[in-house]
Amino acid sequence: MPDPAISSEFTFELLVCRWAELDWPPDDAARGVDGESADAAPPVIVSRQLGTQKRRWDTIVIECDPEGLAARREFGDRTIDGDLLPLVRHAPAEWAYYRDALPDPGYPWRYVREAIHRGAARGLIEKRKNGRRIEIRRNRPYPDWVRRIVAIENKPDLDASAAAALSDQLEHDVETALADEVWLATGRTGERVEPALLREFPVEAGVLTMDFGDGGDRPRVDADAATVDWLPSTLEPQSDGERFDSAEKARRRRLIAERAYGKGWRSFTETTRPDCRWFDLERMGRGLVPVCGAKRRCQSEAECGSRCGSFEPEPPQWRTKGWPIEGGPGKGVRALLERRRERARDPPSKSS
Ligand code: SF4
Repeated sequence: MPDPAISSEFTFELLVCRWAELDWPPDDAARGVDGESADAAPPVIVSRQLGTQKRRWDTIVIECDPEGLAARREFGDRTIDGDLLPLVRHAPAEWAYYRDALPDPGYPWRYVREAIHRGAARGLIEKRKNGRRIEIRRNRPYPDWVRRIVAIENKPDLDASAAAALSDQLEHDVETALADEVWLATGRTGERVEPALLREFPVEAGVLTMDFGDGGDRPRVDADAATVDWLPSTLEPQSDGERFDSAEKARRRRLIAERAYGKGWRSFTETTRPDCRWFDLERMGRGLVPVCGAKRRCQSEAECGSRCGSFEPEPPQWRTKGWPIEGGPGKGVRALLERRRERARDPPSKSS
């Protein structure tokens, strides 16, 4: 049995994502979020490793409007990308010439026509020809489903040099204010995070200490794994900023939310090798993390790829009759995580 100790930032990140799915927001009673109790906490979509061209966040939590999220689900499970979003948002209820209905894209209209064909093929909008003109209409209004966006930077081992490096990133996040809140999540190594390290960070950034220990030597994730060391300030994504005006911020936030919706955080099955015979999933409390039988530990996402020297394909007989999971364990792992991703989009998402 491989050792499931948290030996990589990747594993820590997955556990933070799982915890967020179980128990976001942290310490909500202390924060008095709109007077809501924990039971009334908004449904969340959790994703990892996404952001903008210049800044990629470890963990993203999208707090959703419950009715808006249900309406968003009607558009399907895939991300609605930056070319399709203007279509679904502005397509009219009645048939109209697309150039009359849509805002000027700021780039050639032929790209918009391509997006119309793509959007119609996905069932996001309808299109028809009226003479030489393409007309469009919506199938349903695109909902306002995002309440707040929260960015979390993960650092399991926080020391002075890591704190110094992270402070620049957090300053940047606070300055751009694309997210409503910015947090640092670190592992519990002793007591609370040292005040000297806390002082390294902008006061607007919150600090969470994650405790994935159960008193034994096996890490685990539970809903109460986090302690708030420092509460964050709410940033102002609706205001103009030095880097982006409010309209550009809103556009970027929609893109981030859509990418989080389509990607989730279990998408590591697309970037690692569940088809390797050594790939397995290990239960850690209410979370599952990948482990490597060859390395006998949790592997990192970077090492679990096509260049891994220990990679061995699943034996063909695993993929044929007799294996308890249809298609072999690699395919089974993918299917299992995909099912959990689906379930996580269906609030309430507190089950494991
Ligand atoms: S690809 Fe390498 S790291 Fe990934 S499971 Fe296989 S042996 Fe382990």
